[in-house]
Amino acid sequence: MIADADVVVAGAGHNSLIAACYLAKAGYRCLVLDARDIPGGGATTEEILLPGYKVDTCATGHTLIRVNPLLTRDELGLIRDYGVRYIDPDPVAHVAFPDGEQLTMWLDKERTIDEIARFSQRDAAAYRRLLADYDEVKSAFSGAQFTPVGFGPSLAQRLSEHPRGRVWQRISQLSPWEVISHEFTDRHVQAFLLWMAFQTNQAVDMPGSGVLAYSLVYGRQQRSWSILPGGSQTLVDALTRYLEEHGATIVTGSAVTRLILDGGRCVGVETGDGRQYRATKAVLSTIHVTHLRDMAPRGSWPEEFHYSVDTYDAGIPGFGVYLATSAPPAFALPDGTTRTAVSAGTVGWPQDVIRLGEDLRAGRFVDGVPWLLVATPTLADPTRAPAGQHTVKLLSQNVYDVPDWEATKHEHARRQLARLRAAAPNFTDDVISAMLVKSPKDYERLNPHMVHGAFHGGDRGIAQSGGLRPAPGWGAHRMPIEGLYQTGATTHPGGSITGAPGRNAAMVLLHDLGHDPAEIMAS
Ligand SMILES: Cc1cc2nc3c(=O)[nH]c(=O)nc-3n(C[C@H](O)[C@H](O)[C@H](O)COP(=O)(O)OP(=O)(O)OC[C@H]3O[C@@H](n4cnc5c(N)ncnc54)[C@H](O)[C@@H]3O)c2cc1C
Repeated sequence: MIADADVVVAGAGHNSLIAACYLAKAGYRCLVLDARDIPGGGATTEEILLPGYKVDTCATGHTLIRVNPLLTRDELGLIRDYGVRYIDPDPVAHVAFPDGEQLTMWLDKERTIDEIARFSQRDAAAYRRLLADYDEVKSAFSGAQFTPVGFGPSLAQRLSEHPRGRVWQRISQLSPWEVISHEFTDRHVQAFLLWMAFQTNQAVDMPGSGVLAYSLVYGRQQRSWSILPGGSQTLVDALTRYLEEHGATIVTGSAVTRLILDGGRCVGVETGDGRQYRATKAVLSTIHVTHLRDMAPRGSWPEEFHYSVDTYDAGIPGFGVYLATSAPPAFALPDGTTRTAVSAGTVGWPQDVIRLGEDLRAGRFVDGVPWLLVATPTLADPTRAPAGQHTVKLLSQNVYDVPDWEATKHEHARRQLARLRAAAPNFTDDVISAMLVKSPKDYERLNPHMVHGAFHGGDRGIAQSGGLRPAPGWGAHRMPIEGLYQTGATTHPGGSITGAPGRNAAMVLLHDLGHDPAEIMAS
């Protein structure tokens, strides 16, 4: 069967859905294909444990997309017409340290500063400074994020125009640990900031991501770990409704296996069942760049592109434990009271977190629990579970190559639970009614875009940032094959629920199709 569209979109993650929405807004007929039998990729919410327990299979926190003009200007009317609204949970985060001490971050900045002052007055002042300093440059960083490469000033240019730009040029090249250890002295505060900085699974001792030490904390202090009522799926549902109402078609259960080329131009895709989908204007892909390359004859890609794909670093894999429970993890505070938080966790001392990155890079199995994120969205959104019940997700990092992950993963899940219980003793087996464990291999099976079970489409170090992502020379969403465009986490500015690669790719495509993107995007 041959189905025609103006633009065929391969992959229905939130980025490609967002890109397709802008194209549909401009009047293009879009056809979106996804390998899974539901759209949404890493933004889906599914009943994977028990009926009535809505679990974000991947992403829960949406803080980063909140500053996308998609939402700040409501360019697609997602807020006005499609009911997208966020909950900003308070506390923002709660983290337990190896010695039993704990630290809570609150939406009230002064309350967070008071909390840090319990450990160090000097660090409390440094935290206040961190927020003020990032506030001055946040528009340079987010401006670069939400602009396609080559469509506006680069980050370096934006920073060079800023009075303290030289400091930030240096911070951008440092590692989060270098930045944190320069500013903060107390090991609890340092460990808390490392826990935060590791949330995008970027090793904290790797150069090139020092700004994460500022940007993640700053974003959380503004709008917490924002969640959607009903789960991440609410965003996907709004986008798919928008598409359907604007003439687009979404076909699920169709894995793209081949690019159709005609005279060196990409004119469509073929799916595993042999069907062909032809595009009159362009093909937009969110297929992992390492897979995309194998979907066309080797000679259709230039040698430099092959080199960058051959050396593409898939990033740090993730490990997840999903639980349906009758109680949330209640962290026991030293004063005898307890605290719960939608975003909580445990963390080792700074050297443990640094060693975690080293172990992962060296391919050494991590059998301890130096870093754990504990998400309990039902604390702020009870609609996700039956009355009084909760969904809890434990996330950590590990290696992809384990001789038999199936045999190992349950025992490893028990280690995560034991570490959590040391801080939250109420969280016994008695409160758990269902449990599911996902190894890096499971994540890769679920979503081929998450190569090696890495959540964010590839490492975000210096070699794979800005115009170098996914490959130097092809950082502006245009692939070496004419008519083929790339979006998603393997493109600038990378993974997470930001919508930035999707909106940026739409800008490039709209421009190439002869439009002024600003005119189409205006709300
Ligand atoms: C457990 C977990 C927790 C996470 N938590 C958070 C969080 O709280 N906050 C946050 O910001 N981020 C989080 N992330 C990361 C986030 O989910 C991803 O970075 C994000 O989903 C990337 O979006 P995307 O649109 O680029 O691609 P994806 O969401 O990966 O979507 C890609 C889509 O393409 C489809 N696809 C791939 N190959 C093919 C093919 N050949 N043919 C057809 N379809 C194909 C896939 O099925 C998928 O639907 C988490 C990820 C995981 C796994």
